[in-house]
Amino acid sequence: MPSTVSALYVHVPFCRRRCAYCDFYSRVLDTGLVPSLVEALCFELRRHRELCDLRPATVFVGGGTPTVLPAGALAALLASCGTDVVRDGTLEFTVEANPATVTPEVARTLAGASVNRVSLGAQSFDNDELATLERLHTPGEVGATMRACREHGITRISLDLIFGIPGQTLASWRSSLQAAIALGPEHMSCYGLTYESGTPLHARREAGTVTPIDPDLEADMYEATIDDLAAAGYHHYEISNFAKPGAECRHNLVYWRNEPYVGVGPSAAGFVNGVRYQNVADVAEYVRRVTAGNSPREFEERLDDEQRAKETAMLALRLSDGIDRAGFAARFGHDPLAFFRDAVDKHVAAGLLEVTDTNIRLTRRGCLLADTVIVDFL
Ligand code: SF4
Repeated sequence: MPSTVSALYVHVPFCRRRCAYCDFYSRVLDTGLVPSLVEALCFELRRHRELCDLRPATVFVGGGTPTVLPAGALAALLASCGTDVVRDGTLEFTVEANPATVTPEVARTLAGASVNRVSLGAQSFDNDELATLERLHTPGEVGATMRACREHGITRISLDLIFGIPGQTLASWRSSLQAAIALGPEHMSCYGLTYESGTPLHARREAGTVTPIDPDLEADMYEATIDDLAAAGYHHYEISNFAKPGAECRHNLVYWRNEPYVGVGPSAAGFVNGVRYQNVADVAEYVRRVTAGNSPREFEERLDDEQRAKETAMLALRLSDGIDRAGFAARFGHDPLAFFRDAVDKHVAAGLLEVTDTNIRLTRRGCLLADTVIVDFL
């Protein structure tokens, strides 16, 4: 039976320049490729509408940096994100952007398309740290971009920040956190820097020209994040995500709850009709396949019930509520305490998990070591 799908992701694979640490699929903007890409995205989206019951309550246009598109192409793309999407107050419509790519014209375009949430890649408020990451913006441009969004009625802003940057100190991280808090975003995502294979930053670490920070210092930074954001009124609702009351990212909650979503575009992933898939990570090949009427998928797998149960538990553990015991039992027919007995016993004994009458969730120490806990649920 076709899935009812309430979340749509659209991948725009263009950036002004590639950042040193990034392993998302994107390339430097080639305006010549934009019209055929937009056409192919619309085509793929139409195809999904034939195959599932797509009724987006959340739309997330990410990448890449969608706001590097020429304003006309951006407007066409946003309009095509679902002509039948109900653009009322209930729709969460997010676009990812980088500071300094949101000109007044772009802000007008976003607002005109009913975008009501912008996720901004601030990353740091320290010039040296931004240079290490090879970001193109300055700290001052974060606030200016937020003001441009708000002036055009985009009321929900999320800031991304990165800790664990080479050369970063606990003091400079807390200073970036305070600079972000002072701007009043409704939501913050704070991730530890990872050295992804194939990135320039990874190559520099291998060559010894970049030295990762001490893991204990990184743990201190994460703990400071939890404390400082809690003191500023942000609820720690997912391992790396914090929100003012009611401002949680509804789109990402769909992923963490392992619910179906449609992803379109080069490299986009999706989970529809029980099948998990990922599209080819190449703009030209993506356009070629879609316009020829072929599938852009590079990979797909049908998950059996046991795999879905394990994945659902693994994703739920990222949330502060953890696994809802009754909800899990109703969805999969297994009591999660029995189904994951060995993992639960081991990590409860180590103080990394706690079991309440209703939930199984990470402790604060468990959040620091989440990967080692979660892997035992797979
Ligand atoms: S702007 Fe974002 S998507 Fe583009 S290269 Fe940098 S981190 Fe990656």
